[in-house]
Amino acid sequence: MTRFQCVALAALLCSGLVMRLGWWTGLIVIWAGFFLLLGLGVALPHWRYFGPFICAGHTQQPQVALTFDDGPDLRSTPKLLEVLRHHQVEAAFFAIGCKVAAAPALANQILRDGHLLENHSFAHSYATNLFPARKLTADLKAAQRTIEKHTGTTPRYFRPPVGLSNPNTFRVARALRLKVVGWSIRSLDTRQSDPERVVRRIMRRVKPGAIILLHDGGIPADQLTATVQLLLAKLREQGYEIVRLDRMLT
Ligand SMILES: [Zn+2]
Repeated sequence: MTRFQCVALAALLCSGLVMRLGWWTGLIVIWAGFFLLLGLGVALPHWRYFGPFICAGHTQQPQVALTFDDGPDLRSTPKLLEVLRHHQVEAAFFAIGCKVAAAPALANQILRDGHLLENHSFAHSYATNLFPARKLTADLKAAQRTIEKHTGTTPRYFRPPVGLSNPNTFRVARALRLKVVGWSIRSLDTRQSDPERVVRRIMRRVKPGAIILLHDGGIPADQLTATVQLLLAKLREQGYEIVRLDRMLT
């Protein structure tokens, strides 16, 4: 039973009780609390409110995983791959299906370099979390099929656009044999263009098992490579090893 299901059951039972007592204010309080928790559950992946959202590795070793969202992007991903190759780092790329279709050679290069290429939806709609189950299934399947068709690889992980989730997210992902992955450190690199600030924010929050969220899609190549180079230097300075997401989760 998920936390959401437990809370829903408790809300129903308490509602029955306060209705018997005729305490109508209590009823309002219960359902206001229910919807407040629902909203927080949607927005906060690490709450694991609706299902098994993977937001960190269970390791005590000084290991972290790098993840890059919203690519592949012909303007920035090739430069990023050069940096990762130079530092012998393997990362996880949560790719948008339609971008894989637009840049299949780059998607294959990501895999040839030893990185993971995973599912970040087909169209990256900001309304994904409002999709009914059938539409969500179609979108995720389209991303799976596109990645399979162009690279021969089947993703095993799904990261919902913007990290929002609901009970359908987990039901649909499970049916497609996908594990839902979030993050423990959000770099905010799409809002903050100064690499030093982005890295400082990450380093303040870093701990063993951290999953670090960065973006290769929509970020200028120079900004992205400067951020990653600085981040790798700081992580290694503090004794952290950068491991591929799947290896950190096993
Ligand atoms: Zn995204």
